[in-house]
Amino acid sequence: MFNIERKGSENRVLSYKDQNCVGCGICSEVCPTDSLRLGPTVPIARGLIEMDLVSVNADSCAFCGLCSSACPFGAL
Ligand code: SF4
Ligand code: SF4
Repeated sequence: MFNIERKGSENRVLSYKDQNCVGCGICSEVCPTDSLRLGPTVPIARGLIEMDLVSVNADSCAFCGLCSSACPFGAL
């Protein structure tokens, strides 16, 4: 789970709910700034690695919301 935020003339927040994510990778495909990374899905799903399926680079995220619109499972 992560939450990143950009303050300015309008506050924008991107939140990731790991419990909703199935690791489909659609979000990383649509991100125009290449800010989302999909981890090794099989070891994570099997509990062999403790990490989220998706990670974000908060420095490059433009808070455009495309990933959130594209995620079919409401994880972003
Ligand atoms: S699109 Fe949604 S369900 Fe698919 S990997 Fe991204 S956050 Fe997870
Ligand atoms: S909000 Fe936009 S720039 Fe940020 S991770 Fe999602 S698609 Fe990429």
